[in-house]
Amino acid sequence: MTSQEAHPQRTGEPATTSAPHHGPPIPHNGPLVTEEDIAAVTEALRSGWLASGPRTAALEEAFAERFHPMHACAVSSGTAGLTLALRGAGLGDTGATVAVPTYGCSALLDAVLAAGCTPMVVDITERTLTLDPERLDRASRLDAVIAVHTHGHPADLDALRPKAALLVEDCCQSLGGHDEQGRPLGGIGDAAVFSFYATKVISAGEGGMLLQSDRAAWERVRVHQDPAAREIYTPRFNHRLPDPAAALALSQFRRLDRIVAHRRTLAARFTAALPPHIAPPPGLAPGQVPYRYCLRAADRAQQQQWIGHLRAAGISADPLIPARHLLHRQLGLEPQEYPVAERVVDSTVSVPLFAALTDEQAHRVAAALTGLPD
Ligand SMILES: *Cc1c(COP(=O)(O)O)cnc(C)c1O
Repeated sequence: MTSQEAHPQRTGEPATTSAPHHGPPIPHNGPLVTEEDIAAVTEALRSGWLASGPRTAALEEAFAERFHPMHACAVSSGTAGLTLALRGAGLGDTGATVAVPTYGCSALLDAVLAAGCTPMVVDITERTLTLDPERLDRASRLDAVIAVHTHGHPADLDALRPKAALLVEDCCQSLGGHDEQGRPLGGIGDAAVFSFYATKVISAGEGGMLLQSDRAAWERVRVHQDPAAREIYTPRFNHRLPDPAAALALSQFRRLDRIVAHRRTLAARFTAALPPHIAPPPGLAPGQVPYRYCLRAADRAQQQQWIGHLRAAGISADPLIPARHLLHRQLGLEPQEYPVAERVVDSTVSVPLFAALTDEQAHRVAAALTGLPD
């Protein structure tokens, strides 16, 4: 188990892998670091440049090129990127209302509150686990919505667009994915945020990238992100990404299409292994990057049974988000108002799917899936 897997907010309950199984335990997630990556970081360290510098700029350029015509700003985390997206739009410290899905990382609440805005927590759709546009008031327009492409499933941006003045795509789980019309996720909204946390599609340990469609917003973000931007004084925070981390992210970003293709192959392999009585993950569509592979059990009893079966085979299956971590619960709001998310947390079984999974491990996962009980 890697240290980041022990982070309870990120990975749900700790796995019990003491039951008899064949082969060493397979973690729920883990980073892929290649010799190429090690060489890139070594080169950065040898260069004598440790702070944010030429490699950070090269990473920004690589994102700006892939997501043309967006403007890119490397940041210290996905959370920082979300905060800066709101500040860049001029919403900082205004108390503006920002809609976020309840099934998500508590970083969403942290980012909205750190920007001095007011979170409005919204239930999700059953199929894609993304913010349900039907739950937003038809009459009033929101200041902003943060649309999370949960587990790589594209949020319904066309339905959300008319409902908010600012549309921020949270692509922390969807780098390399596309929506149903083939548009790259992260290139559709006014702003988009990526995370390079250890378990994301690509990683730098920590870090992130913010894309802005508006050049003026991007310039405002620079002022807020970089204390070295001294021409206009405004209270701000250091949200820079250091060069060695940028070197690692850039090395991985160059392999992005291969990483995504490998994830798709794993997802297809798992789906082919499922017994006839178990449906493949709902919402898993072509063009997506399968960030998680989540089966949906009928109820909590079946969820626990499936998790028990997989863990007995040494596979760290995970329910992901316990009910108490749903954002509406974190804010003390009524669970009855969020029926879909409440049901989803008690039926989700997430199976290990990550780029560093070896062929032998994938084979074991597939075999355990085939043996899932009724
Ligand atoms: C990981 C994640 C974040 C936060 O990113 P950090 O880099 O950990 O701050 C935000 N939103 C989603 C959907 C995430 O998965």
